[in-house]
Amino acid sequence: MSISFALCALTAWIEDLNRLQALIANSDRITITAHMSPDGDAVGSSLGLMHVIKSMGKDAKVVVPDDFSKQLSFLPGADSIIIFCRNLNKAKEALSEADLIFCLDYNDTPRIDRMAPDLIEAKAPKVLIDHHIDPANFCDILISYPEKSSTSMLLFQVISQLGLYDMLSKDAATCLLAGMMTDTGNFSYNANDPEIYEIVALLLRKGVDRNYLSRMLFNIFSESCLRINGYALAKKMQIWKNEKAALITLTRDELNRFHYSKGDTEGLVNKPLSIPGIVYSVFLREEERYIKVSMRSLGDFPCNEICAKYFNGGGHTNAAGGEFFGSMEQAVMVFKSILPENKRLYTDRH
Ligand code: 5GP
Ligand code: MN
Repeated sequence: MSISFALCALTAWIEDLNRLQALIANSDRITITAHMSPDGDAVGSSLGLMHVIKSMGKDAKVVVPDDFSKQLSFLPGADSIIIFCRNLNKAKEALSEADLIFCLDYNDTPRIDRMAPDLIEAKAPKVLIDHHIDPANFCDILISYPEKSSTSMLLFQVISQLGLYDMLSKDAATCLLAGMMTDTGNFSYNANDPEIYEIVALLLRKGVDRNYLSRMLFNIFSESCLRINGYALAKKMQIWKNEKAALITLTRDELNRFHYSKGDTEGLVNKPLSIPGIVYSVFLREEERYIKVSMRSLGDFPCNEICAKYFNGGGHTNAAGGEFFGSMEQAVMVFKSILPENKRLYTDRH
């Protein structure tokens, strides 16, 4: 089956794709990496590529810096993912012994945390496929498209342009569609590009069960997850109507009290945006070494600029994050101090 629309979409990269084709052909052991706290797009794109490479008869491994949400463990192949901080030797070996390394869904080495030195030192050529702005220069081939709504979508286009659509199994297609669904909130934001749905159609033709994916990705919650989210909204959400802002904080004590496990607060930061008049929302979660910052907005309010300036982070206009090294009180103080200046960052059409 030939997929000409995808071919057209990526012609600017034809030279890189030719090099990539040669690199894949000459590699037997391929290692795929993704960013820390891997989300559905990071895990989905990595596993999607792993399945395609395995279908070509080559060895493929996925290595990520730390744990991913249990919610993603249903994805085909998720149990084979090597977690760097849990299985140091296996992870280091996968990086040092690889003939080719893919860097998916991240644009710079701080995004892979303590795995960075091993990736940088690895002798294999590196290929970045990503949709975050301003990629750093740490790979041999850069396939960076910030306008794509997910790395999984971009990867599908790369795969089809390499002539590998026929190698895409139902499992691979399932992982890629999961990634596309995650980064668009089940096609509810960053979801106006018609190409998304052309790709969805091609993935569904591989037999993917989108109804099942919707349920598994967006509608399965543990009891502790439901309770912690209920508590956060009822007791911990603060609203600044005039500033069109919302804040939710959860301390370590609160997380422990509700038996928090990773992924339980996924999506919580979006909830205040459902209140008419709220333009941006921040969620602060106390981790062991820092306060994890998540920020979401509507329209042109630049979450990535705020996170880069105040919270050692970055991301996209409407979804960004970072890490604050200090106490929860200090993080809240920073948030409150920037409320007045943030007012200049949105237009009044909301
Ligand atoms: P989340 O709030 O779901 O953790 O992250 C949303 C988006 O913000 C991610 O897709 C990523 O682009 C960006 N992001 C989150 N945390 C960080 C961070 O610590 N550093 C940077 N540069 N970007 C982040
Ligand atoms: Mn992504």
